[in-house]
Amino acid sequence: MFEDLIQGIRRIFEQPEGSIPLHAPWFDEEDELAVRDCVRSTFVSSVGAEISAFEQDLVTLTGAAHAVAVVNGTAALHTALMLLDVGPADLVITQSFTFIATCNAISYTGASSVFIDIDADTLGLSPEATSTWLEAQCEMRNGECRHRSSGRHVKACVPMHSFGSPMRIEALLKVCAEWNITVIEDAAEALGSSTGVQHAGTFAPIGTLSFNGNKIVTCGGGGALLIHDERIAKKAKHLTTQAKVPHPWAFAHDHIGYNYRMPNLNAALARTQLRKLPHNLEVKRELHVAYRALFKDTPFTLVEEPLGSTSNYWLNAVLLRDQAERDAFLKACSEAGIQSRPAWELITDQPMFSDAIKADLLVSRNMQDRLVNIPSSAHP
Ligand SMILES: *Cc1c(COP(=O)(O)O)cnc(C)c1O
Repeated sequence: MFEDLIQGIRRIFEQPEGSIPLHAPWFDEEDELAVRDCVRSTFVSSVGAEISAFEQDLVTLTGAAHAVAVVNGTAALHTALMLLDVGPADLVITQSFTFIATCNAISYTGASSVFIDIDADTLGLSPEATSTWLEAQCEMRNGECRHRSSGRHVKACVPMHSFGSPMRIEALLKVCAEWNITVIEDAAEALGSSTGVQHAGTFAPIGTLSFNGNKIVTCGGGGALLIHDERIAKKAKHLTTQAKVPHPWAFAHDHIGYNYRMPNLNAALARTQLRKLPHNLEVKRELHVAYRALFKDTPFTLVEEPLGSTSNYWLNAVLLRDQAERDAFLKACSEAGIQSRPAWELITDQPMFSDAIKADLLVSRNMQDRLVNIPSSAHP
């Protein structure tokens, strides 16, 4: 039944046999030279010119006011939450349909995640479902949103742009503003995506990115915070560099700090990789168009960018009609050497989060049951 699709995927990648990866990174000589030159400079670690140059590149690319480069996307999320003083007494709204890093970062602060459903078309946190939950479960007390039954402060909200598809960030910001909840945009998968002409991760006061090996561009491990406010950006830099008080020789620290700064070696590679982003975006869009033709006359639905937004099409996703069909498709792909994968199991199904506060998650569950990511490398 899936034989035509498998042959179609092989045709798209011009690979009649052998395995086709889900997503392979791509490096060229420019990347190799950047790494070599950085090694030769001996400035491979926490000091070096590449780090601030990379931060400036990110500012130019995204239009964010400030960028702070860190060791990975999870550290970026943890730092973002610390910048908002999120702690053990607090609740943070997020989606159950996400990669575990989003919720792990919330747990690092001691706060608890509250799980709300996603929209079927964007696969991101639903502003309507968020509003409904807040109306039903919370009230404003002294200008703070309080969860009525636990009395806990709902301080932040972390939506995620799934597979690069922009969620309804503007509507969510409006809902959260009414409840005085600060939004952090997990744009780890959405480098190069935008709503209107504005880059994902720059709508909320703080957004986060990842440059992990599986993302649209990679420097091995890396992440970044995109920040509106200069004072908060300075604090981000401070917290992620062991909170050391600037001084030519003395070691004084004024806060519990973190060794989260991106090493210069990674920043050197991140810079040459970032130059490949426009090219990768173009190839991925062509790939998506080819998939659109392939799935057109099938009962399956290719996930498309929501109207008014531009997806980076980091990972293409297709919806089968039910879980049994999804599993049959995964099996057929696996046997044919076509690397595909289901969506993440819902976070609320993981033992660490099974007792979490949650709204109904019907759409999340439905998408989890039916979605498969299919090969999406920009360079096979
Ligand atoms: C990749 C990813 C992260 C974490 O990034 P790392 O750099 O791997 O730590 C966070 N959130 C989402 C949604 C991701 O896909």
